[in-house]
Amino acid sequence: MEPIVYINGRFFKKEEAVISVYDHGFLYGDGVFEGIRVYGGKVFKLTEHVDRLFESAQAIWLEIPMSRKACADAIGQTVAKSGFKDAYVRAVVSRGAGSLGLDPRKTKDPQVIIIVDTISIYPQEMYEKGMELVTASTMRNHPAALNPRIKSLNYLNNIMAKIEGSLAGCVEALMLNHKGEVAECTGDNIFIVKNKVLFTPSPDAGILDGVTRRLVMELAKTSGYTMNESTLTRHDVYVADEVFLTGTAAELIPVTKIDGRVIGEGKPGRVFLDLRSRFQEMTRE
Ligand code: PMP
Repeated sequence: MEPIVYINGRFFKKEEAVISVYDHGFLYGDGVFEGIRVYGGKVFKLTEHVDRLFESAQAIWLEIPMSRKACADAIGQTVAKSGFKDAYVRAVVSRGAGSLGLDPRKTKDPQVIIIVDTISIYPQEMYEKGMELVTASTMRNHPAALNPRIKSLNYLNNIMAKIEGSLAGCVEALMLNHKGEVAECTGDNIFIVKNKVLFTPSPDAGILDGVTRRLVMELAKTSGYTMNESTLTRHDVYVADEVFLTGTAAELIPVTKIDGRVIGEGKPGRVFLDLRSRFQEMTRE
């Protein structure tokens, strides 16, 4: 078992995988990506991730030089070559190497890169006891500037918010949209529970429409909870009974303190624990 990197049809070891410094993905963040989990040797929600990758590319006029099926197959092959049964896949498509100007017409050969490795983004203790968030002053990208639904290589917006979180001693930060409404966190979507009813911001709030978010919304509905997509303010979040985050890398993680306010009873809530155990049943059969 070892990390494997696919680049345009060829497989490399981690140390040997390289692309051009003239690649516009590197020079300008001109490209798109996906983060995908593998559980028990099976790529989780593969179609959903491949579809989002192609939609992100479509939105930035980037043509991925293969079909969706070929892309899904390449991901499967790279996972198989790595030998990992539980893994994290990073699929990246960059505009390719070009001149030292912005003009994408001067680039050629978009690079399709698939990295298969493992990931652990938050300490285990936070999954048991909950994490603390602060609200970042850096707001989420305005949808009319760079729509957060596009999972682009340009993550500076989130990275700046993440740094604000770290400076405040937190591993994740809450981001508001241009209207001051709750959007999401730097790499995760947010859910709240009030009186056993679940709420999460809608994609119109200017968020990444997370694959895990959609799955949790489905799980909530099939488990008999009322699930709403609605505008959330920071006040809603502060007075929630429960808050939790979702993401491919993060999975489901409870939040017990935000901007110094203890949320609910200050420990992972009942609804969260119920949904997380249902999620774990699906992923750890
Ligand atoms: N929001 C942002 C900004 C993200 O980068 C991610 C993915 N890391 C998510 C939400 C969660 O999306 P998904 O469940 O599809 O991984």
